[in-house]
Amino acid sequence: MHKDLKLFIELAEILLEEEANNTVAKPIDTDKLYQTLDLQLNDAPALDEEFKSTLLQIVKNTPKTASTSFFNQLFGGRIGKATLGDLLAVMLNNSMYTYKVAGPQVGIEKVILNKICDIIGYGNESDGTFAPGGSMSNYMAMLMARDKYNSTIRNEGVTNKMVAYTSEASHYSIAKNASFIGIGRNQVRRIKTNAFGQMLAEDLEHQIKLDIKKGYQPFFVNATAGTTVLGAFDNTKTISNVCKTYDLWLHLDGAYCGSVIFSKKYKHLVEGIEHTDSFSVNAHKMLSTPLSCSIIVVKNKTYLHQSLTNDAEYLYQTNDDDFNLGKTSLQCGRRNDALKLWTLWKSVGNKGLEHIVNHQFKLADIARDYINNHSDYKLYSFDDSISVCFNYKNIPANILCTKLYQSAKLMVGYGNFNDTEFVRMVTINSVLKEEDIIAFFKTIESFVEAEKL
Ligand SMILES: *Cc1c(COP(=O)(O)O)cnc(C)c1O
Repeated sequence: MHKDLKLFIELAEILLEEEANNTVAKPIDTDKLYQTLDLQLNDAPALDEEFKSTLLQIVKNTPKTASTSFFNQLFGGRIGKATLGDLLAVMLNNSMYTYKVAGPQVGIEKVILNKICDIIGYGNESDGTFAPGGSMSNYMAMLMARDKYNSTIRNEGVTNKMVAYTSEASHYSIAKNASFIGIGRNQVRRIKTNAFGQMLAEDLEHQIKLDIKKGYQPFFVNATAGTTVLGAFDNTKTISNVCKTYDLWLHLDGAYCGSVIFSKKYKHLVEGIEHTDSFSVNAHKMLSTPLSCSIIVVKNKTYLHQSLTNDAEYLYQTNDDDFNLGKTSLQCGRRNDALKLWTLWKSVGNKGLEHIVNHQFKLADIARDYINNHSDYKLYSFDDSISVCFNYKNIPANILCTKLYQSAKLMVGYGNFNDTEFVRMVTINSVLKEEDIIAFFKTIESFVEAEKL
């Protein structure tokens, strides 16, 4: 093991150097991948030197998500204290289902969950768990809602039309999850949004009434804190009033930007969050922990137990169930995703998390200012969002982004809203500085000039 750890540190040092000097890995065409890198598995073991040099090649050629040129996805960057926690979790290798097997790691997970429930005003009956990602957090929310409103389904299966509501700008996992839980994709209503990409409460209410009239059973509304393209925040307060009127479960999908709860300055974007039934947040997005670190909390823990508990005598042999987290998780064996968030949180405090969140909004302000002050750009996104959407010199966004990637200049993606396609730059890497944002635009400008796009 000592030898492997030494190799690990050597490779990690090289990665850090590469990230600094060579911020985008030159992509390998898929049809050349197996010729370029020795990925095949053989009968004979690899020699030490060969093993090491292959690993080195793989490290160098893997997309660098922590560099100053990565703006492609809703995660990015690296905070040392969080990575440290995840590395330790790998070494400790516990499974989070029982206190007997995970010990203090259970306490760590519970402290995080309690703290988040506290911050959002969920009260004493609340609890939560760590899910394998934001999509699965949403899945658990929908599952709990299904079982709350129709307690026979767990044994009998679905026999009536149950309807879920989510905005047309929400994450695709909602439709996928509707098929997983057995209500079917066709029972998901895609609610219209306003010009800012926020769900329209009037259209929501209109659709609910139509479904009731048809004899269907509305049961679940998903609101989003940070939509995938524009980074818009649905109005939780207004939507919660509709949910109250019709007695529906309200979930707030905060996978992308739910971390605003840690910021005094930006938590108003989820005003009314205390009126939701469940809330999910990905710490691997705005809080920059390594993937995955997704949390779901529920105001009334009865539903978490109702939908997820299964007795298993071979597993739960000691301690009270409050410390046997397998009683409320989706998986059986479960990786420790809590420690990386705890090491980060412990080391920087609430104040540090607040700073991480605020800084991302500040970087987005800088990007929007740059766009607004340069007439070759057109801005499509709005204030209070860390997604900055724009076009440059009317160059089709998909062409610009693809060429930047192929030339190893920048990693940035594109999206569309209201039939307009644009570049979507995400200022989620809280390690970046103002000059990195300016450099992003300068890179685009010199690239377009050189390539005569
Ligand atoms: C990223 C995201 C998800 C999915 O999270 P994963 O961890 O990738 O499964 C769900 N909803 C929203 C709004 C997201 O941005």
